Amino acid sequence: MSGLKLHNTLSRTKESFVPLVPNHVRLYVCGPTVYDRAHIGNARPVIVFDVLVRLLRGLYPRVTYVRNITDVDDKINAKAKASGRPIGDITEETTKLFHEDMKALGALPPDIEPRATAHIPQMIGMIESLIGQGHAYEAEGHVLFAVPSMPDYGKLSGRSRDEMIAGARVEVAPYKKDPADFVLWKPSSPDQPGWESPWGRGRPGWHIECSAMSREYLGESFDIHGGGQDLIFPHHENEIAQSECCNHAPFARFWLHNGFLKVEGEKMSKSIGNILSVHELLGEAPGEAIRFAVLSAHYRQPLDWTDEGLKAAKVGLDRLYRALEAAPDARPAPEAPLSVRAALMDDLNTPLAISHLHELAGLLNKATDTDDKNRLAGALLASGALMGLLGANPLQWKTGAGEAGADKGDQEIQALIQQRQEAKKAKNFKEADRIRDELKAQGVLLEDSPAGTSWRRA
Ligand code: AMP
Ligand code: ZN
Repeated sequence: MSGLKLHNTLSRTKESFVPLVPNHVRLYVCGPTVYDRAHIGNARPVIVFDVLVRLLRGLYPRVTYVRNITDVDDKINAKAKASGRPIGDITEETTKLFHEDMKALGALPPDIEPRATAHIPQMIGMIESLIGQGHAYEAEGHVLFAVPSMPDYGKLSGRSRDEMIAGARVEVAPYKKDPADFVLWKPSSPDQPGWESPWGRGRPGWHIECSAMSREYLGESFDIHGGGQDLIFPHHENEIAQSECCNHAPFARFWLHNGFLKVEGEKMSKSIGNILSVHELLGEAPGEAIRFAVLSAHYRQPLDWTDEGLKAAKVGLDRLYRALEAAPDARPAPEAPLSVRAALMDDLNTPLAISHLHELAGLLNKATDTDDKNRLAGALLASGALMGLLGANPLQWKTGAGEAGADKGDQEIQALIQQRQEAKKAKNFKEADRIRDELKAQGVLLEDSPAGTSWRRA
């Protein structure tokens, strides 16, 4: 056993993780609906599951990570209509931007990234099987899943029947036999995207794509299914219903859900106008600092995204990189220290792991012996790598030169530091001091060392 413990939404407890097939971990995470740029909330599951995958890859010889792209959805249709652009253009462009943004946050691509529209025949096959087994029925061009046909429906969310009906927030259509029944297939008008099916031209409901694509790439039963906690109900509950009734096999063994992210204490919403896109944030901070800020909270806790928090992440990361300057040639140790591994193995306790990174940086700052410095820096680098952190060159991080996403303020500071260097070279010490004082007045402190000048905010 690896010693990894994960909180399972299904059992509501932390359980020891053991893969169903020895040495091969299979996980599926619900990916984005591609109609708009990713916001920082969408980035949270991507970053959290990226850390989990990195950890699993260190523990098991084989990991298959599937994250889908939802490219058929009524929000996409609405956007196409409003903008007059073809649906395919919107989904393709948004997918490309999503990849760029997630790469900037240091997230590795999944092994397989299936698109819903490329798996319609698999969805139709599953729906036919559900109808054949009495778990679904056709009504007015729709196909609905018959919730009363599954005795243990609701086991993931633990909601009562009334809560489920209220929570689904769908109007109770007259063709539903039971108000809790949900859509597997719906008819499309000529101006809506649609595919030929045994029930006429139509398109899938939202949930069936994940049941069909996870089965295609991971099999009927697999290890871990993840996403944000808003997906527990109805999306994941309905995935379980579809898959288990169709396959007669347990679906995912572990269910992991990240907590929600708010902005300055408020829910992110279009009406409040506080939706923070990853792209916008990348103009304010390097992607690694954004990642660091996301990982500063435990993934199951709510995360309040604030300017202060992002600033603290920058300062924290700067401190770690400054410590690494003491051993710029150090290579990551083969294994991270036990303290860091133990924190991550305990249900991905990233805040605790980060506090251990700071301890290592403190020791590194105090070390005088070159071997000690290299050993500590190696431990720090290996620890950071487990979370996708500290991969940049510390000397470059220090100057910020060429850092994608360094904000305008950072660039101005760099420019002033450059001017000061030139003044010093020209023995214009008065000007050099003036620049130092000017930056100090703006709360920016300079530190000179043989390797160059670094800066930090006071
Ligand atoms: P969507 O594109 O809306 O289907 O969402 C993609 C992923 O982002 C899902 O796993 C959602 O649960 C997650 N997500 C959306 N909003 C937030 C948020 N504010 N905080 C955390 N996760 C979120
Ligand atoms: Zn899904």
